[in-house]
Amino acid sequence: MKVGFIGIGSMGWPMAAHLAKAGHAVTVFDLDAARTASFVREHAAAAAANIGEVGGEREIIITMLPTGADVRAVLMETDGGLAGRLGPGTLVVDMSSSEPVGTRELGAELAAHDIVLIDAPVSGGVLGAEAATLTIMIGGENEDAIGRATPVLEAMGGNLFRTGPLGSGHAMKALNNYVFAAGFTAAAEAMLVGEKFGLDPATMIDIINVSTGRNFNTEHSIKDHVLPGTFAFGFGLSLMAKDVGIAGDLAKQIGVDAPVATLIQDLWRDALAAEGADQDFTAAYRHWKKTR
Ligand code: NAD
Repeated sequence: MKVGFIGIGSMGWPMAAHLAKAGHAVTVFDLDAARTASFVREHAAAAAANIGEVGGEREIIITMLPTGADVRAVLMETDGGLAGRLGPGTLVVDMSSSEPVGTRELGAELAAHDIVLIDAPVSGGVLGAEAATLTIMIGGENEDAIGRATPVLEAMGGNLFRTGPLGSGHAMKALNNYVFAAGFTAAAEAMLVGEKFGLDPATMIDIINVSTGRNFNTEHSIKDHVLPGTFAFGFGLSLMAKDVGIAGDLAKQIGVDAPVATLIQDLWRDALAAEGADQDFTAAYRHWKKTR
């Protein structure tokens, strides 16, 4: 298929590479022109010099951008918006972790241009993107559009789930990352308390990892990136803070009391303010260690 891929960052790069390897005609665009140029040197793909060049005869546009606001800007705002340059019936698949309510609004606006939007955010991190084993959460009810997207999504993912109407994939993704962040927060707090009491952090992680307290973070993020002090999992602190914010805001928008989500949202907002947007999410531990 003729695929336009916008956003070849940590995740988008390996995802777009799998599409090129699978034989799709991929055109990539990223604000980082040097990154776009390196991608087309390494892969069988074309580069778009600006957002307008992504338009034209593309059958599917995939967005893998930091936020839903970025996705909206690309489609509706930048240089007049890509939406006006796409042919009727073009399918847009937003694989970023965007805000579900914003996604529904964008879907309605794109429908006025005869463009179909589905959401298909992912979980599995950079390693999952490289191995094409991502979990993909597909929101949307247009069966024809989802049928067209499926072979493209299968080239990037290992577990494809239908989650319901437009925006439901984004809601599911934010809720998953809230649980992910909460697991990290709890494990980090346990380690900080244990260390103050005199326990060895490495021994604590070894014990937790063969006990009932283990989670993805104790097995991977903390073990591989906090204990060695590398803080380089490959998922940005700003992105994690954004995701727990989406989950907390979603609870508020639909009137569900979610006190743990509110607390987690505040803790990650503080860590982001202290450590900075260019840090890995695991650097939140460093902030909490300094402040407790
Ligand atoms: P990233 O910051 O590494 O990459 C984002 C890319 O988008 C960058 O290359 C940037 O230059 C580009 N970009 C930003 N604005 C743009 C614009 N207007 N037009 C064109 N390009 C633009 O982010 P990432 O880690 O690849 O994450 C992308 C999305 O996937 C986010 O929504 C994130 O929450 C989600 N996600 C990330 C991970 C992970 O482990 N990194 C896992 C699952 C989901």
